[in-house]
Amino acid sequence: MKYALVTGGSRGIGKAISIKLAEMGYFVLINFNANTTDAENTLNEIRTKGGDGELFQFDVSDPEMIKIAIEGWQAKHPDEHIEVLVNNAGTSKDMLMIWMDEKDWTNVIRTNLDSFFYVTQLLLKDMLINKFGRIINVVSLSGIKGLPGQTNYSAAKAGVIGATKALAQEIGKKNVTVNAVAPGFIRTDMTKDLDEKELKKMIPLNRFGMPEEVAEVVGFLASEKSSYITGEVININGGLYT
Ligand code: NAP
Repeated sequence: MKYALVTGGSRGIGKAISIKLAEMGYFVLINFNANTTDAENTLNEIRTKGGDGELFQFDVSDPEMIKIAIEGWQAKHPDEHIEVLVNNAGTSKDMLMIWMDEKDWTNVIRTNLDSFFYVTQLLLKDMLINKFGRIINVVSLSGIKGLPGQTNYSAAKAGVIGATKALAQEIGKKNVTVNAVAPGFIRTDMTKDLDEKELKKMIPLNRFGMPEEVAEVVGFLASEKSSYITGEVININGGLYT
């Protein structure tokens, strides 16, 4: 059995990634935080398509909870390991910095950036011992160009981009690759309140992207086909770079 863990794998982009990895033959550990029904629906969809997985609840902003959940899984599966990790769970809380609450700064950094450290560190050892691993971080256009109203989110995603490049250099020799995908506007719950009609005018491809369009690239990065790519950030934004 080959295992993949997708944080925030129950909804939106993470859901599409969970389905994609299951189609590739992975047993998918679908992490979520609060919404059990959506997580169950995702697992059912995977099973209907002939794949398999299980729900894996923990709050990625809580290091203690991450440790208990992942070490618990590892203790129950002493002869198995997770070879694909997709750090996808994320949140945003937009506000101009002058009015931003300290707790909104901290929560966005914890959920999007600190989670990368805590989750990845616990899975690294097995990947290094087994001389194979794929770590894929879902970042954002905001982390590349910075977006007004998102100093917290832009800082967190830019932090993950820096960590992606640094970690890739630390562990390349062990055949573990670390890459990131940077979506622009993708149609999910996170963007459902945005004015797509207005915003799409800025996007060369003239529409928001679909979660499956991100999942395809993540699937490629998780596969053997991406064997000579590491430390990269792939933009998936319909041409909306600047
Ligand atoms: P979404 O539809 O809001 O889904 C978020 C997912 O993350 C859900 O499965 C949610 O689980 C989980 N999650 C949130 N906080 C969590 C926590 N503390 N612990 C564990 N799981 C948590 O978001 P999305 O649009 O798919 O975004 C996925 C990733 O893509 C994020 O990193 C986001 O920053 C990035 N991104 C999105 C866009 C976009 O346009 N949508 C653009 C650029 C980057 P629950 O249901 O249990 O809360």
